[in-house]
Amino acid sequence: MKLVKLIANLGYGSRKDVAAMFREGRITDADGEVLYADDQVEHARIRIDDAPLDPPAGLTLMLHKPTGYTCSTKDPGRIVYDLLPPRFRLRSPLLSTVGRLDRDTSGLLLLTDDGGLLHRIVSPKANLAKVYEAELAADLRGDEAAVFASGTLMLESEKTPLAPAAMVTLSPRQARLTLTEGRYHQARRMFAAVGNHVQALHRSRIGGLGLDDLPPGQWRVLDAADLDRLF
Ligand code: URA
Repeated sequence: MKLVKLIANLGYGSRKDVAAMFREGRITDADGEVLYADDQVEHARIRIDDAPLDPPAGLTLMLHKPTGYTCSTKDPGRIVYDLLPPRFRLRSPLLSTVGRLDRDTSGLLLLTDDGGLLHRIVSPKANLAKVYEAELAADLRGDEAAVFASGTLMLESEKTPLAPAAMVTLSPRQARLTLTEGRYHQARRMFAAVGNHVQALHRSRIGGLGLDDLPPGQWRVLDAADLDRLF
């Protein structure tokens, strides 16, 4: 792919903008040599204003989503893309969230431009475990784990029962819930169905991938080893 197109696809600007950046000498190799639009250079050696070029297509990243941000691009309020470099919203192919977390839910959110990977993660057939910690308004009654594991729980306005889900009690008002589906507001609606109310919800894990020490609001690019841990 021509350098102009490659760099424009990464969201740095239109092809016209990027052509101007070449003319201004802002695009160099790792040794500071000015590059020209027709040069053939390894992606990892390209610099823009001395900063390494963003990762190429095939980008997957994890974000520690804080509460107060939505996963929609249309929301007039704060959105998860506000936590990423602005040009990440302009990349082609698009960087999409892998499923969604509610505005009031914090934790592990994946974003990817790899449609195949996105499908593999969200597909119910993948059976990929998503682990949530919930803080509840009232003490657990004691039968929740059995109800959630039954595979018969019907949520309001749904046509099929939920797949069995595992719940572990962490304290009288705290539970760890492992879901393999991603229905709308699922964790909150499940606790509502057993007479409780979720006051805080945090996703700590997807498959074998956790947030580790990533602070709220921070993100990092996933490498091949991370993707292996997912499945
Ligand atoms: N379940 C919910 O209720 N909300 C989320 O954000 C994720 C799972």
